[in-house]
Amino acid sequence: MSKLKVLIWNENEHEKIHPEVAEIYPKGIHGTIAEGVAAEDLDISIATMDMPDQGLPVGALDDVDVLVWWGHMLHHLVEPRIIEMINERVNAGMGFVALHSAHHSKVFQRLMGTNCNLAWREADDGERVRVWCVTPSHPIAKGVPQWIDVPKDEMYGEPFNVPKPDDIVFINWYEGGEVFRGGCTWTRGRGRIFHFSPGHETFPVYHQPEIIQVIGNGIRWTAEQHRDGHNLSNLHRPIPLEKGAPTSSRRDP
Ligand code: ZN
Repeated sequence: MSKLKVLIWNENEHEKIHPEVAEIYPKGIHGTIAEGVAAEDLDISIATMDMPDQGLPVGALDDVDVLVWWGHMLHHLVEPRIIEMINERVNAGMGFVALHSAHHSKVFQRLMGTNCNLAWREADDGERVRVWCVTPSHPIAKGVPQWIDVPKDEMYGEPFNVPKPDDIVFINWYEGGEVFRGGCTWTRGRGRIFHFSPGHETFPVYHQPEIIQVIGNGIRWTAEQHRDGHNLSNLHRPIPLEKGAPTSSRRDP
């Protein structure tokens, strides 16, 4: 079985400047997620913003099947060429898993085509969240309980200004009263996208096995299912099929 190549990218800034975050995530948020989702079928690499070329030099995504993204403070500093590189790769079939505040990353906004604004509240001691699985038949819900209780997280509430999702897999309820489409999927070109909202940096959300289970499922589901068929390029087809264009192949180049 060939393994899925997964790249987990993290801006890795809170961990360096906020001791309370470093205490929860001594190996970085990326390190905890990587350890959590580790499995036989996944070949996992790490990239962080403090690496050369922000961890994503030219060509870095060429053989990546799924990119996982955590960012918050430094969205505005991500190089535009990286946003375009990811957008191109997603449209060509790479999966993209956007976690928590990645909803406001430039790349997620680029993929959605909206500002992705929402309602939010960062209570000092966090808020209890119940993440309801509303589409239990979805592959991302495999092995996931009917709901996941997260004892403390930042509140993300509706309205969430994104295009209508293909599927809403999770809806969050917060003790403050809000609700949120906390786990949604979209398709762009050949690529699948999943946003999963739990994961504020000051709470140990990514230490919860059910949360990690969802992220692992999200990685496997967003991976391109096959590479048959044409590649959604801008096809110039000057000769109609009925007037002599080759018909021997069902595939376009
Ligand atoms: Zn947050």
